[in-house]
Amino acid sequence: MLSGARASNRLRAMEYISTRGAAPTLDFEGVTLAGLAGDGGLYLPAEWPRFTESEIAAMAGLPYAELAVRVMAPFVAGSLSEDELRGLCQAAYGRFAHDAVTPLVQLNERQWLLELFHGPTLAFKDVALQLLGLLFETFLSRRKSTLTIIGATSGDTGSAAIDAVAGREGIDIFMLHPKGRVSDVQRRQMTTVRAPNVYNIAIDGSFDDAQAMVKRMFGDADMTGRFNIGAVNSINWARLMAQVVYYFAVGVQLGAPHRQVAFSVPTGNFGDVFAGYVAEKMGLPIAQLIVATNVNDILHRALSEGDYSTGTVTPTATPSMDIQVSSNFERLLFDCGGRDGAALGEQMRSFEQDRAMRLTNAQREGASRLFTSARADGDEMSRALRWAHDHAGEVIDPHTAVGLHAALQSDLDPTIPMVTLATAHPAKFPDAVERATGLRPALPTRVGDLFAREEALVELPGTYEAVRDFVAEHASPAG
Ligand SMILES: *Cc1c(COP(=O)(O)O)cnc(C)c1O
Repeated sequence: MLSGARASNRLRAMEYISTRGAAPTLDFEGVTLAGLAGDGGLYLPAEWPRFTESEIAAMAGLPYAELAVRVMAPFVAGSLSEDELRGLCQAAYGRFAHDAVTPLVQLNERQWLLELFHGPTLAFKDVALQLLGLLFETFLSRRKSTLTIIGATSGDTGSAAIDAVAGREGIDIFMLHPKGRVSDVQRRQMTTVRAPNVYNIAIDGSFDDAQAMVKRMFGDADMTGRFNIGAVNSINWARLMAQVVYYFAVGVQLGAPHRQVAFSVPTGNFGDVFAGYVAEKMGLPIAQLIVATNVNDILHRALSEGDYSTGTVTPTATPSMDIQVSSNFERLLFDCGGRDGAALGEQMRSFEQDRAMRLTNAQREGASRLFTSARADGDEMSRALRWAHDHAGEVIDPHTAVGLHAALQSDLDPTIPMVTLATAHPAKFPDAVERATGLRPALPTRVGDLFAREEALVELPGTYEAVRDFVAEHASPAG
């Protein structure tokens, strides 16, 4: 790979800055281990690397792991050599059940599905978390240090993160989920992993309550003084970075750099769709990104009306999108609004107080260049699920169906291919699939005897103190 080697020699170490402008600049290793920035903001690269048309054309036909090296090399420069990155990508993507890692399926002349669920826990979060687990292990062994991962999950992040770090050196993981609000498959994928470094915690409360506790622990000086606390939710930059890769994989398959492509992305925390924004910044010709939400539609209201205000969470058949606050939206507001950390810090602090804010004109105009949005209620989701089955013979999961609903409604130029991200395997949400199609999807054999294995979890009341005391008692002290 002569040309690759030459290109990497030119790469300068990437620096990362906080969206709130008041945290130290870090390198890739630093942001991977830090998660949230010390000023409450989120880290982003100081500038976007950009590929030329010929560099994008040269990506066509590469194996997934090799494409991942090309796309991510500029972001890890200064912390990992290209060969180290290649080793990690081969290990992470070697665990996928499909050789293409993220295969593309055609539904009709215009509509496509990108299957992101061939990893160990059947949702797209494996694509990023399998790599993140290896990055943690690499950087911790360099520093001879330990990491206490605290996470909140509405289902899929938890199982993917636990699978990615179970049994790994130097890492403990404490995963909070809202009791009774994740599916049986999701819960069992977390609680049946028997490794001494894995702690599952069911709390009395919602996902947002769990997320708020996690955020509070990051700001708890007593806890951060005793433990190196790390994050696996999509506030972690390394996760978003890994997701940029599959946008390029699709783009070059469908004709980039010579032809445009559009994506419809079922969205919760705005991580997956923000990775598409990054791909566009890096030169991929994306005509449009559709932010598809369920009835918990804060993002749809923000993008269509400029109104970013929270309500209460309505539970739906798409639990991984049942949230009110979309953490990664802050990254878009920062980048579209002129990268003014001080102003955004102020805007976010007032949002945290009032639970509501208006987007500025610059933010609205910047976002509308690339993004549009759509919302699907339960009936619309079921209709799209049936459409995929009746018209293309594909059984899809309800989250994917929210995205497909938006894709089918789109008024974009129909000669531009429209790709819906298929974010979970249908067998992860069998009840909703059965209600819509009459078919009950079977779990793939690779998940084994999930329903026969014993579960391990603790139940805690929905108070910060209860969770804090449990973590303090069981985590390994900072090494
Ligand atoms: C996490 C998840 C989403 C939402 O992704 P974000 O990056 O939070 O926007 C959508 N679908 C499924 C199946 C998920 O697990």
